[in-house]
Amino acid sequence: MQIKNSAVSMIIDATDQKELEEIKLQFLGRSGKLTLTMKEIVKVPIEKRPEMGSLANSVKEIIEETIKNQELTLGTQESKTRKEKIDVTAPGIKPAIGHLHPMTQVLYEVVDIFKSIGFQAADGPEIETDYYNFEALNIPKDHPARDTQQTFYLDTRNSKAQPGEMILRTQLSGMQARVMEKMKPPLRVIVPGTVYRYESVDASHGFQFDQLDGFLVDTNVRLTDLFGIIDYVLRKLMGENVKLKFATTNFPFVEPGVDTYIECTVCGGRGCSFCKYSGWSEIMPAGMIHPNVLKAVGYDSQKVSGFAFAIGLSRLVTLRYQMDDLRLLTNPDMRILEQF
Ligand SMILES: [Zn+2]
Repeated sequence: MQIKNSAVSMIIDATDQKELEEIKLQFLGRSGKLTLTMKEIVKVPIEKRPEMGSLANSVKEIIEETIKNQELTLGTQESKTRKEKIDVTAPGIKPAIGHLHPMTQVLYEVVDIFKSIGFQAADGPEIETDYYNFEALNIPKDHPARDTQQTFYLDTRNSKAQPGEMILRTQLSGMQARVMEKMKPPLRVIVPGTVYRYESVDASHGFQFDQLDGFLVDTNVRLTDLFGIIDYVLRKLMGENVKLKFATTNFPFVEPGVDTYIECTVCGGRGCSFCKYSGWSEIMPAGMIHPNVLKAVGYDSQKVSGFAFAIGLSRLVTLRYQMDDLRLLTNPDMRILEQF
């Protein structure tokens, strides 16, 4: 009995596996206390031996059982403390976090620059009517300028629309009429969005482009105001030292029309395949809004005037990062995207 009590209390007090092994040896080992006691049984009178024997056996069982239980208790405690051990100084595992595509980054930046000088952003439908995309912009059905904008026409057989009336917008300028119909000057509006042209895809052409159009209508707006705005925005975006030049051009919805060129950043103006060896890259067609466009929305073209411009976003991104291939922008390779 004494052996049982002291063994059990020792086992319960044991704090690790090693201690338990020692206790086991101390009582149940070859020269352990209980083992020796059992050997003594032969010395007691024969009639008492069975009683002593079964008592010793039950003590042995109790000791073994208690050791087993204590082992379990220690085991769960140990694994608990192991789980709770947190090394706050260990370097963390950095989760993979994506970031905005360079096109989106530049778009947000351009929009912010325009907003800082009083422009507000407008959004319009990608499925557009022939009227807003062409007619309202002084491009009637027989106008040769339509040939320069290869157009996707929508199948109108199951709709109320006339054949050829519904298209995927080829330019964002249609938003000029949509906004001007609803609002009165002064207006300063930018329209970021996607346009579509029916063109075969190669190194410098796609069938879907991201653009940003803008226009300003007020009293006494002059061509020099247009130059000033373009100059300001492109310097903010591409750096103070950027070289720009303007040349006259012709679009039906502006008069006069202006093309903005930026010195090719890929070759620094020396000439390369990206700038077609001219040293300059066309970046921003623009011009004074044609009086017919103002009249079409009910404005008095004698009292108000304005200018409009369009920026090809992918051209802007490639020039800014000196990329010589437009297709890099639609390449999903992470080694490219991680550089931005
Ligand atoms: Zn170049």
